[in-house]
Amino acid sequence: MRYPHLFAPLDLGHVTLPNRVLMGSMHTGLEDRARDYDKLAAYFAERARGGVGLIVTGGLAPSIEGWLTPFGGRLSMPWHVARHRKVTRAVHAEGGRICMQILHGGRYSYHPLSVAPSKLKSPITPFTPRALTARGVERTIGDFVNCARRAQDAGYDGVEVMGSEGYLINQFLVERTNRREDDWGGSVEKRQRFPVEIVERMRAAVGRDFIIVYRLSMLDLVERGQAWDEIAMLARKIETAGASLINTGIGWHEARIPTIVTSVPRAGFAWVTRRMKEIVSLPLITTNRINVPDVAERILASGDADMVSMARPLLADPDWVRKAREDRAADINTCIACNQACLDHVFEKKRASCLVNPRACHETELVISPAAEKKRIAVVGAGPAGLACATTLAERGHAVTLFEQAAEIGGQFNMAKRIPGKEEFHETLRYYARQLERTGVTLRLSTAATAESLRGFDEIVVATGVTPRPVSIPGDERANVVSYIDVLRHGVPVGRTVAIIGAGGIGFDVAEFLVEDAPSPSTDVARWTREWGVDTTLTARAGLVKPAPEAPERQIWLLQRTPGKPGRRLNKTTGWVHRATLAAKRVTMLGGVAYEGIDDHGLRIRIGDETQLLPVDTIVVCAGQEPNRTLKDELAGVGVPVHVIGGADVAAELDAKRAISQGTRLAARL
Ligand code: FAD
Ligand code: NAP
Ligand code: SF4
Repeated sequence: MRYPHLFAPLDLGHVTLPNRVLMGSMHTGLEDRARDYDKLAAYFAERARGGVGLIVTGGLAPSIEGWLTPFGGRLSMPWHVARHRKVTRAVHAEGGRICMQILHGGRYSYHPLSVAPSKLKSPITPFTPRALTARGVERTIGDFVNCARRAQDAGYDGVEVMGSEGYLINQFLVERTNRREDDWGGSVEKRQRFPVEIVERMRAAVGRDFIIVYRLSMLDLVERGQAWDEIAMLARKIETAGASLINTGIGWHEARIPTIVTSVPRAGFAWVTRRMKEIVSLPLITTNRINVPDVAERILASGDADMVSMARPLLADPDWVRKAREDRAADINTCIACNQACLDHVFEKKRASCLVNPRACHETELVISPAAEKKRIAVVGAGPAGLACATTLAERGHAVTLFEQAAEIGGQFNMAKRIPGKEEFHETLRYYARQLERTGVTLRLSTAATAESLRGFDEIVVATGVTPRPVSIPGDERANVVSYIDVLRHGVPVGRTVAIIGAGGIGFDVAEFLVEDAPSPSTDVARWTREWGVDTTLTARAGLVKPAPEAPERQIWLLQRTPGKPGRRLNKTTGWVHRATLAAKRVTMLGGVAYEGIDDHGLRIRIGDETQLLPVDTIVVCAGQEPNRTLKDELAGVGVPVHVIGGADVAAELDAKRAISQGTRLAARL
């Protein structure tokens, strides 16, 4: 057994969990509508079948006031119970166990009926909450208890009380959001009464044989958040009040320190849970950026925690646990912590899915079944689109040949993986390399496919990607004007002062590549916490100290023609991290730029009426991309069906999420 600690059973008294993996709570959007509960049940059943020790659902509100969004998921009325039974039955039928998370949004609720300890608007929502009256507080505690009882009725094995990330319970705990002067505020003891009463009364209502997980904010990461001794005091009270397990919560949603994005080091916050081990004797769950079995095993073996929570990794691969148990870690489709199809979707009010696994939350709709008629299919291009398509086609039983003109698979991911903070992209390439082998795809590397070489196939899939868009600026033929491909793939030398033309995702990534010294801070917890200002000694209130970023490697200007600050179009949950990273490295980000010309002195730009000379050694062009349709055009009239996917289809707004989804969906129906 390669992972003995991961697969050690955990005895909770009335029940023994088969392993130490908790599927952490993750909102999917399916919780919000009764008609989606069959899909939700199928989603969880697949994870239970994959062997996860204990599942926690996305957050369900205990009342209308506690809704995260209008008409969001809620369990408070008797008629809500039936839909939840679909979920619990499906999970139990697969031998799994599932707890329902109770989440009251407080001032994070995105609707006008929101309530909070005090009438203080959050910086991330437009609604000012109403301050709860003392009776309102009592009623809200009752709502939590009622919700837990209904969860028990619905067949859940327990509940998780969401006490972290800045939601209602967390808001009661700190002066930042609790200015009350009654029995629920004023002193630490009074601020802590709210969660303690919830857990106490809940335990009394549900009896002993029901799991209560309490998600404890161990590091608030916001000004005037809790001090460590206050958190320790609360943990002891929660233990006495009757919780079965304590889960770790890191950072409020309004915190300006990233906690789960891909540039956060793996297991970057396990040290916080380790400190809590000295305080309570309940089993502790640690969380954040744990995505591969080796890291999970290391945490458990070193005694930092008793369980590991993974939410997104189980979206990425429902069979994560089974594969680890069977010592097939190489087969795990690893979550790369990009947030692009999960959290970003949730914030855009779309159903969550996964960039590397488009079946996530679409289990009943995107079905990969054996092909009725086996065909010989050529896939051209081993970027994300071609890889997803070829491996899915082969999985279905087709005879697939994958042509790649480069000497390695991966397409643009081979550039992405070199960006500091995007080391996880290596995992996707490792996964696909293994899947090509496992599914028996014939791989032809260093082979540029032509119409001639594709004769004899029944169908052809063109996944030839993109070509970089050239710019037209006087002087752009000079030797110091290079493209992102020259820099990231061919390693051309870059000077100490650099202008980057184009501030899309790739412009930002190139800037991060050029300001950062190797090795990347994402591989070093001590350096990363120092750079972002996280106090690992836990002596500073809320874990906040002054950030100490290391000096940039180069002086960079990042430019775009569109007026306004660059980076507005970056993804919702990660864009701010990229902007903050570059700001810390003193990158000058300019919008509304007209490019006048390049000469011996540098790049001349104009912003409005003002002309400036940027005295740069190197100019890197990151001006977007065009579809590479050369092969597609050659194939016109070839006489067999030709399908075009990924960047070769549409280059505008292309990302790997679309490339992989399009490749998988096409393969599912050929
Ligand atoms: P490509 O990845 O371009 O692959 C096309 C492949 O086809 C290439 O390997 C090429 O060699 C091959 N090919 C072309 N013609 C032929 C031929 N005739 N015969 C054989 N082979 C051929 N996306 C995200 O979603 N998130 C990110 O964080 C992200 N970061 C990025 C960072 C960087 C630095 C870069 C460059 C890209 C990033 N992307 C990111 C974009 C993402 O990589 C692309 O959207 C994705 O790779 C597109 O996939 P594709 O398969 O369509 O094309
Ligand atoms: P992009 O996002 O379209 O950005 C292209 C940039 O070039 C823009 O800033 C654009 O701004 C500028 N530009 C366009 N035409 C120009 C011209 N003729 N001359 C000068 N400047 C020009 O494309 P990208 O950065 O190449 O990224 C490609 C895709 O990869 C994106 O769609 C993105 O989704 C994906 N990607 C995603 C991530 C991620 O983290 N999610 C990271 C990297 C890449 P102006 O027109 O204002 O000058
Ligand atoms: Fe992980 Fe990205 Fe998939 Fe979300 S979309 S589960 S972050 S790989």
